[in-house]
Amino acid sequence: MAIAGPAAAALASLKPDQVTFLQSLEKAELHAHLNGSIPIAVIQQLGKEYVNSPSSTRGDAIYATIERLIYSSAANHPWGTLRIFKHFSVKRRKRDWVSRCISPSTPEETLKLLSFQPDRLGHATFLNKEAMDTVIKNNICVEICLNSNLLSKTVTALESHHIRQYLKENHLIAICTDDILPFRTSLLAEYALLLAQPPLGLGLTQDEVKGIGEMSLRARFTMGSS
Ligand SMILES: [Zn+2]
Repeated sequence: MAIAGPAAAALASLKPDQVTFLQSLEKAELHAHLNGSIPIAVIQQLGKEYVNSPSSTRGDAIYATIERLIYSSAANHPWGTLRIFKHFSVKRRKRDWVSRCISPSTPEETLKLLSFQPDRLGHATFLNKEAMDTVIKNNICVEICLNSNLLSKTVTALESHHIRQYLKENHLIAICTDDILPFRTSLLAEYALLLAQPPLGLGLTQDEVKGIGEMSLRARFTMGSS
C-alpha cells in the first residue's frame, strides 16, 4: 500500500542507509486498530464476496465495503468523534488483556482512570500536567501515533507534540501506526518521523531511535508476564 502524508515525507527524506537502519531495527507495533489495518487486497477480496445481488457491480460492492470499513474505523476511533483522549490497556491476568477506548471529559475522570494503573495508554493526547506527571511517575507506557495525531489534528505540529516531554524524561513510549489504512502509514514511516531532520521529523540520532525501539519491545504484553 502506498503511504502518504507527514510520515511518508519523513521516510522519503532519509538516506538509503538510514532506511536500512530503520528496517533492521527491532521494534514492536503495539497500537493498531484491526478495522483500520486491513490491507487493500483483503478489502478487495471482501468486496468480491460482498457481491450478492444481480444488480450490484463489482465496483459498487468494493466501494460499499471500503466505505463501510472506513466508516466503522472512524466511528470506533476517537478521531471520528474528535474527542481523542486515549485507549486504556490494563493487564487483568495472563492472556486476558483489556484494551478500551475511553474519552473522559474532565481532569478528575482522567486521574480516576489512571488510578486503575493501566500498563499502557494509547495516544494520551490531552493529558494535563498532573496527569502526565502521574503517567511518568507510574511508568505507564504511552503508545504514540505521530502521523495519526498530525492528520487528525489532535496535535498541530511535531514541535508541540507531547512525545518531546516523554523523550526529555526518558519515559517508556512505543511508536505505533494507529491505522495504516486511513492514515496511509507504516511502522517504518512512523520511525522515520523520529529520525528525519526537522521540520519533517524530530531529528533524533540512530542511538536514540534504537532506544525507542527497545522500549516498544519492553512494553509488549507477553504470554509469560503477570
Ligand atoms: Zn488509536
